[in-house]
Amino acid sequence: MSLHSKETVGVRYTGWAALNRDPQEDMLEYTCPYCGQHGMKAARRTHADYHFTDGFLQDLQGEMAACRSCRHSLRIAPVVMLHDQGEKRRFKAVFSAVLVPSKN
Ligand SMILES: [Zn+2]
Repeated sequence: MSLHSKETVGVRYTGWAALNRDPQEDMLEYTCPYCGQHGMKAARRTHADYHFTDGFLQDLQGEMAACRSCRHSLRIAPVVMLHDQGEKRRFKAVFSAVLVPSKN
């Protein structure tokens, strides 16, 4: 684990999780680990870059982004695709500790 670049978990909604959304919008949603600001960016990497790891489809390389609030650059990884409510619940159970921003 690198200590000099913060990572955050991004969520890329697809399939059933994205039914209420414009299909042209393929966005990653994330929470800034520095200030807690919720952010979105266009997903750049294709679904072929995602691999099943620990029961989730993840992009282990991740994508770089910059927080629009505090301007810190961050790495969004892993990127998780959520297909249904059950998967979303499982995701929250696994990653809830990561999603809470640290205060330092
Ligand atoms: Zn921030």
